[in-house]
Amino acid sequence: MSTSHVIVGDGIAGSSAAETIREEDPDAEITVITDEGEALYNRILIKEYAKGKLPEAPISIHEPEWYEERDIDLELNTYVVNVDSDAHTVETHEGDVYEYDKLLIATGGTPAQLPVENSDADGINHFWTFQDAREIRGNVEDAGKGVIVGAGLLGIDLAAISGAQGLDAYYIMRGNRWWRYGLSLDGAEIMHDALEEIGITPVFEAGVDRFEVDDDGHVEAAVTPDGDRYDCDWAGVAIGLDFNTEWLQGSGVECDDGVVVDEHMWTGVEDIYAAGDITQFHDVILGERTQNGAWGSAKEQGNIAAKNMVDDSREEVFRWVPTYSITHFDFPFLSFGHPTIGDDEAERKYSDTEWRRLAFKDGKLVGGVLIGDLSQQSTYKKLIREEWDVADRKELLLEEDVDLDRLEGAIEAN
Ligand SMILES: Cc1cc2nc3c(=O)[nH]c(=O)nc-3n(C[C@H](O)[C@H](O)[C@H](O)COP(=O)(O)OP(=O)(O)OC[C@H]3O[C@@H](n4cnc5c(N)ncnc54)[C@H](O)[C@@H]3O)c2cc1C
Repeated sequence: MSTSHVIVGDGIAGSSAAETIREEDPDAEITVITDEGEALYNRILIKEYAKGKLPEAPISIHEPEWYEERDIDLELNTYVVNVDSDAHTVETHEGDVYEYDKLLIATGGTPAQLPVENSDADGINHFWTFQDAREIRGNVEDAGKGVIVGAGLLGIDLAAISGAQGLDAYYIMRGNRWWRYGLSLDGAEIMHDALEEIGITPVFEAGVDRFEVDDDGHVEAAVTPDGDRYDCDWAGVAIGLDFNTEWLQGSGVECDDGVVVDEHMWTGVEDIYAAGDITQFHDVILGERTQNGAWGSAKEQGNIAAKNMVDDSREEVFRWVPTYSITHFDFPFLSFGHPTIGDDEAERKYSDTEWRRLAFKDGKLVGGVLIGDLSQQSTYKKLIREEWDVADRKELLLEEDVDLDRLEGAIEAN
């Protein structure tokens, strides 16, 4: 008898799981359910579309035919509202019920709204879906002045979209710099200069107390708690994600700012796995629970979950060093591993556009940020993957070209 796999979410985690299940089990029944109206597309590229640089076509990854060719049942525009883990069923908003032998939760997150007055006014965008990108593209094209809120990796995408379309904007940040959890002021200043060059003015130590709207309900200003008023007819907000776990209530699946899974992507509830941004997973390199919000790691989690769904022995382990790059400026930027955690750090500025920061935990490298020169990324990722004890070798690690033989010699001589 064939096994029935139901996958909720057709992002990169859900879609790659479907592909892997089909490769591993030609007889399996596979259903992918998504509330979006289109099949998998490249979420990383939607910012290029919103900038006005790309047509729609290259953003799409799978047409519906891709699923048909693999005998995968794709249900678009279908929101899953409930799971009954005893009966092994999920229910959709239209009351349809799907039975599963194995279930994959791959529902990712939804952008959090600023909890302030008028945060849902016309002209204010959050950014997650292709549909959001279409709206942002149009709104930014029509706007005369912008405001961006959220000093993180998605906020800077909104700033870059604004800059690329020639819209001057204020970029309101809570602290004294962009991405203060990952960068020191030295590193962040490189990003601030780059933002200013494209017409984006950073505003530090500020927040949004409320948005003001005109008679038609369209945003016309962001007002800070100090009463400073920033005129705008477009605002982009990226202050983090709320994970899509409501439909799991009562299922027995542990939810804690996401879905808790082990290193096999198993939730601990019989036959239910999870993959992608939504997981709070046991990281075998760090030896602790963590979460990633990156395309490559969501894809790999989908593959690992799929293999474990097909073969119940749960031999496949997720072991991964994530990366996240920013390509908006004329220098590259890469975050690798987990740069926002740790108990020790080291950094160096090499030139006006070259800077590095490394984060350590329990004597090991766990992550970092590279600006300007990415040549050492595979060396650092190897050190993380292989769990080298390098925290007291910071000088060698910060050399422009890290010499692994010297590093190994220095560690052995200790
Ligand atoms: C603008 C932007 C730029 C990014 N840039 C980068 C980058 O440069 N590098 C990088 O590594 N990462 C980047 N990311 C992050 C990356 O895209 C995500 O980490 C990745 O897409 C997560 O994949 P996922 O499959 O876990 O979740 P998602 O892609 O969020 O997919 C989840 C899907 O489930 C659907 N869903 C949710 N609830 C339900 C339900 N109840 N019923 C049915 N369907 C449901 C959602 O609508 C969605 O389609 C970017 C993200 C965005 C938005």
